[in-house]
Amino acid sequence: MGQGYVLKCKNCDYKYTAMTSIGMLFPIEYRDTMKDIRDGKLGEEYRAFVDENPDAVVNLDRKVGICDKCGRIDTLMELSLYKPLKPSSEYREEEYVMPLELEEGYIKCKDYEHRCSCGGNIRLISLEDEGDLDLLKCPICGSALEICQDRILWD
Ligand SMILES: [Zn+2]
Ligand SMILES: [Zn+2]
Repeated sequence: MGQGYVLKCKNCDYKYTAMTSIGMLFPIEYRDTMKDIRDGKLGEEYRAFVDENPDAVVNLDRKVGICDKCGRIDTLMELSLYKPLKPSSEYREEEYVMPLELEEGYIKCKDYEHRCSCGGNIRLISLEDEGDLDLLKCPICGSALEICQDRILWD
């Protein structure tokens, strides 16, 4: 179930609702994303990697990202690629792996480079991490943002 956070500027009226984690549509999103990777929509490097590693899995955890150039805040899927530590012989194309399962038994092989429409790099941050939270600045006035206590469950 997805978790939502409301980020509020300490100075002006700016508010951003971030829907993080994963939702009910996860199995469908997983299947669609793997298809996009195989079709080369996430780049030739990604396509080649899953081609050479049929047991590769993708991390679809949703995170808050911030552009290092224009400061835009967005919610994005992580999209890093993993491989099982032990090669699995029973790989099936319909299978999916939840982001939490990746912490054990999988090794990260590729980080997806998220790009903003302005050309800047998007850095993914964790809202549970205080240091990361400090990086978030209001895109309007530049003041610090804070998380409102209320969490929303989005599906
Ligand atoms: Zn502000
Ligand atoms: Zn940007």
